[in-house]
Amino acid sequence: MIAALRSHAAAALRSHAVAALRSHAVLGLFIAFLIAAPFLLSEFYVTLMNYIGLATLVTLGLVLLTGVAGLMSFGQQAFVGVGAYATGVVTTLYSGSPWLGLLAGMAATAFVALGLGLITVRLSGHYLPLSTIAWGISVYFAFGNLEVLGRYNGLQGIPPLSILGRTVDTGRESYVLIWLAALAALLAARNLLDSRAGRAIRALRFRATMAESFGIDTARLKLIIFLYAALLASLSGWLYAHFLRFVSPGAFNVNMGIEYLFMAVVGGASQVWGAVIGASILTLLKEWLKDLLPKLFEQSGNYEVIVFGLLMLMLLHHARDGLMPVFARLFRSRQPAPPPPAAAALARRPRLAPGEALLEVDAVHKNFGGLAAVNALSFAMRSGEILGLIGPNGAGKSTLFNLVTGVLPADGGAIRFLGERIDALPSRRIAQRGLARSFQHVNLMGAMSVLENVAIGAHLRGTKGSVAAMLRLDRDEERSLRYEAAQQIARVGLGAHLSDAAGSLPLGQQRVVEIARALAADPLLLLLDEPAAGLRLQEKQALAALLRRLRDEGMSILLVEHDMDFVMGLVDRLVVMDFGEKIAEGLPREIQGNPAVIEAYLGGIE
Ligand code: ADP
Ligand code: MG
Repeated sequence: MIAALRSHAAAALRSHAVAALRSHAVLGLFIAFLIAAPFLLSEFYVTLMNYIGLATLVTLGLVLLTGVAGLMSFGQQAFVGVGAYATGVVTTLYSGSPWLGLLAGMAATAFVALGLGLITVRLSGHYLPLSTIAWGISVYFAFGNLEVLGRYNGLQGIPPLSILGRTVDTGRESYVLIWLAALAALLAARNLLDSRAGRAIRALRFRATMAESFGIDTARLKLIIFLYAALLASLSGWLYAHFLRFVSPGAFNVNMGIEYLFMAVVGGASQVWGAVIGASILTLLKEWLKDLLPKLFEQSGNYEVIVFGLLMLMLLHHARDGLMPVFARLFRSRQPAPPPPAAAALARRPRLAPGEALLEVDAVHKNFGGLAAVNALSFAMRSGEILGLIGPNGAGKSTLFNLVTGVLPADGGAIRFLGERIDALPSRRIAQRGLARSFQHVNLMGAMSVLENVAIGAHLRGTKGSVAAMLRLDRDEERSLRYEAAQQIARVGLGAHLSDAAGSLPLGQQRVVEIARALAADPLLLLLDEPAAGLRLQEKQALAALLRRLRDEGMSILLVEHDMDFVMGLVDRLVVMDFGEKIAEGLPREIQGNPAVIEAYLGGIE
């Protein structure tokens, strides 16, 4: 039996290694192609490859910004323009070095990106896309109308780059520089997404509330991604200016911004390598169509724009996720990944002594319009106990949960955790103090593995940020985070599902994944919102056993439940809510016979 398991694990390891090898082989082939291309291709196609590399940099920023983080920008071409014009001005008007030009471009870009990001406050809703459109239009007209920037003629005579005493003035030399930059950016982005910061970024789009509940500062992270995408565009502009040796406004027209978005979507907006695919396909297509279409229609015109639009419609209809998933299928492993190897344990919080005052809810109110969802509710909890919060549907249990965890602000009253007021704190600050929760409506990243989902829970136990992740300086910590996640998953009994997509599990098990994620935060207080809903009897019993075991280890648990039978044999004390108010509090056997509780549950039937 054990031998069989071991050989199974070994087989999984082997086939995973094969898959890893295959994905390395694809990367190797891509790099081999990049190295061979300038020797094989004509001058014309080398130049096209340069444009593809430049577009890849911009598109990669959009993949991270739009595809992964869910933020829309129509203004990337304007950041390219800022990078290009900055170095144009520095090198032609002030005879400065191109490196000074790069610095100026990056500084100007950072200034604008942070400004736009802060003005559109949390980069939410339509404000960001609209303000990037406004920004794109004003930059285009500023370039075209400013005397000092040469108006619509632009700036001529930009010098070539010179690196280590070597002048980069042929297409093939520019090729080397452009593709080194693009490749470095691609690898950095790949590293970023496969890290603590990357998990947080991937949660931004659909799971921001969950992310905040585990200590992630989503507003700051959005700003960082927006800044990063803008800097990539600006870098592309700097390379472009020194490659072409002149700049003019036409290249930074608003429709270029839309073209970059097309590239991101065609490639597969949520995949790093999709940036190369999208940039290649659109750049080549545009070139061929520009040649072909006027011949076809026997008159000149920008027909490629029309054909592009039609192709986009077709693509969105048939392959919503772009072309990258089609390529990815060629080298994806169908075998589960092996469990992460043992790694250094993460630091844990000092435990509390049993019986210490833990949570105090003091006359808390919450109204939704005229409805008092929580009305002058008070109760206290000591460390080491399981407190059940029960009540019929609509009693206000989840609302109270959201007040305690900072997802909703309270309208009145006080909430204290370990003696400190927490009712005015954002949820990520409450998480820092040692509260971790599950959600009644499962709040997992469905496409991500169970392991990665649970690792998000341990976010606050790591410190490495985006830059460390891009440079792969986070590997020790990352191993520890993944090992911790694997241990918590084993603890809740889902060890066999580490590498399954979280969304592929039955709903009941997804709730258990939520518990593992909360445990990965090493909390002092665990808040569970209807964890037994959707579980079968056997699974309920296993869950109850798990919660008892956690309590025996000293964990304090606030358990919201609808199911009376589940809580009765499990909890130490009960608080019963109805219509936002506390109607009873006591030991389970006292509550069972309480007439007010029976009335609330049975709706007053005699
Ligand atoms: P429970 O979790 O006990 O079933 P809830 O806390 O979810 O109850 O809901 C309590 C009451 O508040 C219900 O009447 C519900 O309809 C209402 N409610 C909950 N959330 C909102 C909201 N965001 N806006 C308006 N009403 C809400
Ligand atoms: Mg509820």
